[in-house]
Amino acid sequence: MKPSLSVTLDYELFLGVKSGTPENCLNTPTIHLLNLFRDYGVRATVFFDILYYWRVLNGVSSNPALRADLDIIKTNVASFLKNGHELELHLHPHWLDATYAEGEWTFPHYKRFRLHSLKTDNNPSDINTICGCITMGKRLLEDLCSETTPHYKVNAFRAGGWSLEPMKQLAPYLKENGLTIDSSVAPGLVVQNAIHDVNFESCPDKDGWRFEDDARVPTENGSFKEIPISTFKNDLITKCRSFWEKYTVEPNVKKIYGDGTAIPFPRSRFFQKMAPSVKILTFENLTFFEMMRGFDSLVSRGHRRLVMAGHPKYVSPFAISETERFFSVLRSRGVRFTPLTETASTL
Ligand SMILES: [Zn+2]
Repeated sequence: MKPSLSVTLDYELFLGVKSGTPENCLNTPTIHLLNLFRDYGVRATVFFDILYYWRVLNGVSSNPALRADLDIIKTNVASFLKNGHELELHLHPHWLDATYAEGEWTFPHYKRFRLHSLKTDNNPSDINTICGCITMGKRLLEDLCSETTPHYKVNAFRAGGWSLEPMKQLAPYLKENGLTIDSSVAPGLVVQNAIHDVNFESCPDKDGWRFEDDARVPTENGSFKEIPISTFKNDLITKCRSFWEKYTVEPNVKKIYGDGTAIPFPRSRFFQKMAPSVKILTFENLTFFEMMRGFDSLVSRGHRRLVMAGHPKYVSPFAISETERFFSVLRSRGVRFTPLTETASTL
């Protein structure tokens, strides 16, 4: 089987002190990405932060300034769909606690960062429950997409901040809603701090598997399919070369389009320095050389279903041009650029 690449993007604002503007975090980078995808025949998968949209939609009547934000989101969604891309579910429950004033969103705390922190009642119409958040989120995304593509169906899920485990708490509701394809797992990645509790160290080095109630453990005939985010380890030569290449790029070329700030990671920086350096195959901040080394190392390990992950908000002109070189080589090698749900159908 020839390798395929699923390009996935988490469509969201920043989650830190400054959420950033939809114009700079979403619209501008989306236009650049759409042009790039069109030029290389890439059909991407957009993991859409539905609770942000839910807050904007419900906030418009009391904050007319949100009308422009809503228009940007709807225009981007229509453009994605009209260009053959798919939209799937992404949930960041701390949006439920966000406040909006004078054109800015503020997150007073991250007590509900993980889906698991929501109430456990089996109430599909209460967004403050795990059941309601998944059920209402999926319906809302389908309604939004159906404005462009009638009867649109959402089938895949990516947990916000990779916070999928313990999957046992989410599995019944994901299954009930037909969300049986997951792409939250990044093998080898460990992020543990006051907000995250992510540990994918024990995942198999495979490009897809079925599972039942723990996405890290393959189960024959499991109800769910995991198509993991592709990860790899950089060797020293690649690290040095990429560091130098990035260092020599003009600051305005490597400046990201997004204008917000990342979520604070208390206590994580030290840990991440100590943890094995696992890289995600991304279009955000890798050099062409890193992308190629990552791709080739994954293929040499037997992977045929590769998944690239990134966020429009972190895209820069440098990221776009490096990714363009990467896509160009992949196209010349006959790699297929398939949306995630199509990739999952080969499992
Ligand atoms: Zn996210």
